[in-house]
Amino acid sequence: LTYLYQDRFVSKEELQISPEDRGYYFGDGVYEVFRVYHGRLYEAAAHFERWEKSAAALRIPLPLPSGELTGRLEELIRINGLSEGTVYMQVTRGAAPRSHPFPADTKPILMAYTTEARRPLNTMKEGISAVTMEDIRWLRCDLKTLNLLPNVLAKQHAVDQGAGDVILHRNGTVTECSASNIMIVKDGAVITHPANHLILHGITRAVVLRLAQGLGLSVRETPFTLKELRAADEVFITGTTVEVTPVISVDGVPVADGRPGEITRRLQNEFEKTISF
Ligand code: PMP
Repeated sequence: LTYLYQDRFVSKEELQISPEDRGYYFGDGVYEVFRVYHGRLYEAAAHFERWEKSAAALRIPLPLPSGELTGRLEELIRINGLSEGTVYMQVTRGAAPRSHPFPADTKPILMAYTTEARRPLNTMKEGISAVTMEDIRWLRCDLKTLNLLPNVLAKQHAVDQGAGDVILHRNGTVTECSASNIMIVKDGAVITHPANHLILHGITRAVVLRLAQGLGLSVRETPFTLKELRAADEVFITGTTVEVTPVISVDGVPVADGRPGEITRRLQNEFEKTISF
């Protein structure tokens, strides 16, 4: 497996990260996960836009402009012979003796690699169970930073409960899941939390909202409560790796009749069309 390290292609053994890397000390960095379908990056422009936004907010200068980086990732996919899977890419503020302020001579460290992954066809068809949990993250959830401890604890909570994922809420207002966005369907309308500082602005979320509009469905980007979640006709999550996955139970109680919903199915079908290029 070949890695991208700065602007070079290297083996894992050649990839040397300093123990003083600020990613290691502080989680001082940002990342992206791209989906690869048929050897091609899906929604690359949107991912790079978010990457630039996250890096700019943390004031991490990017070692390569997105145009060049796109070419490097395409080459990485080719070198690794990846057809279906993901590309993980991250940049940290680089190495310096441990001290909170930015180092004077910052040299950001970038790396990326590919992973083979199949589409989660089974859970997309059958749906998953979910459990709810208080969202304890900071107030810039729109930035895709390496600080994922609350997400890690949330996902582990789901695993401990034998659930497929965790639905996060702030004081009863549903935000998103540990690594995906969440939408409900009520009386034919698709409802999801607005893209503000409390959620990650998911690329799949944006695609699915466009598709819903294309189907003539009413789309409402407005906060909804745990009570509304429990009373929903349909619940589904969206994300780069989960695509559109139905949620069929919340805290052990079935959503509606406990089967994936009709509108969820239609959105899955529409999504399918966007990836069969
Ligand atoms: N929310 C969180 C917290 C995530 O980690 C992810 C996965 N990147 C998403 C939502 C979904 O975003 P996307 O559709 O861009 O993968």
